[in-house]
Amino acid sequence: MSRERLSTQLIHHPYKPPEGFEAVAPGVHKASTVIFPNVHALRTYDWKDKSGYTYGLHGTPTTFTLEERIATLEGGAHCVLAPSGLAAVALVDMAFLRTGDELLIPDNAYGPGKTFAEGELAAWGIPHRFYDPMSPADLAAKISPATRLVWLEAPGSITLEFPDIPALVAVVRQASEGRERPIVTALDNTWGAGIAFAAFDLGVDLSVQALTKYPSGGADVLMGSVVTRDEALHRTVLLCHMRLGLGVAGNDAELVLRGLPSIELRYRAQDAATRELAHWMQGQPGVAQVFHPALAGSPGHGTWQRDARAAGCLFSAAFDASIPQERIDAFCDSLRVFKLGWSWAGPISLCAPYRMSAIRTLGWPHAGGLVRFAIGLEHVEDLRADLAQALPRLQS
Ligand SMILES: *Cc1c(COP(=O)(O)O)cnc(C)c1O
Repeated sequence: MSRERLSTQLIHHPYKPPEGFEAVAPGVHKASTVIFPNVHALRTYDWKDKSGYTYGLHGTPTTFTLEERIATLEGGAHCVLAPSGLAAVALVDMAFLRTGDELLIPDNAYGPGKTFAEGELAAWGIPHRFYDPMSPADLAAKISPATRLVWLEAPGSITLEFPDIPALVAVVRQASEGRERPIVTALDNTWGAGIAFAAFDLGVDLSVQALTKYPSGGADVLMGSVVTRDEALHRTVLLCHMRLGLGVAGNDAELVLRGLPSIELRYRAQDAATRELAHWMQGQPGVAQVFHPALAGSPGHGTWQRDARAAGCLFSAAFDASIPQERIDAFCDSLRVFKLGWSWAGPISLCAPYRMSAIRTLGWPHAGGLVRFAIGLEHVEDLRADLAQALPRLQS
């Protein structure tokens, strides 16, 4: 399916409205119980292929519609919804990993996904290792006969290094050859959101998103998705999802459905503002380096140019090592338009300070503190003015 003109595809997405009521928005259906017409139906309806509704947990017309649209957004064939982005990450881990299997995670992966591996997966006898996502050779060296699942993330969380996904996937494919249980690749595609690049064309098996971010766009709902083109992989995710009881609610699905028609517009507006501010920030006193895949000199910039056609709403600034953390905290505290908080891709701009040396297992080259900025939908000049009034706090 064409990756162009996504807005039109999402706005004119096939949907069967109730007879005689063709509203623009799909209806919101809520259920635990779904009534069957007779015992034969109760015994034969199958939610797995969407040929029948059986129970709210296994899908409603509203969640099926959202699943179909997220699959379209990502250029995939199948989608499973989870109650948060983190639940979608954990679902993939639980669907594919068994005791004795090994998991590989990029060192710059989304933090809570690492925490799940360090907590539950380790306790279940499923060890993990971190690899350098900017080095396919490092990934190749860390794959073992027990490796079952390899996570990818583009770009990395907080520091936004853009990895060579086709090269990493090729390493996995080669190592996987001849295995009874091939190694599965799963991409955390929250940043790309199906818009910046076509994950499946780059070769990944599964694409996971926090729908909390771009698809919702409202900073008011939590949801996650797991999309694939592969029927067998989808089945594995779907069965694990059913056993865990990870359904999503109709009203939450509605919020994400409302966000989708404007996702491409929002993505491009936030992309433009973020590039402008990232570029401006690079020249400010006290700023050692700005991380944003579209900036020359940012790690993976060339790969981003080759594989992507847009960039997300995040940039990070590493400050000079001479600037103490208290001054960086004071800079963050003196911002007025930017608020302090987690998540991103909503209407409001956010920032958060990070101590990278405490986060990265394989090391971090900058001694100074780092702040990540998430650009919302405010006017870019108000955001620039806010940064400009707060930056002197770094110096005194
Ligand atoms: C936010 C985020 C998640 C988790 O999403 P939640 O809905 O907040 O659980 C996962 N991956 C990435 C890259 C994220 O930014």
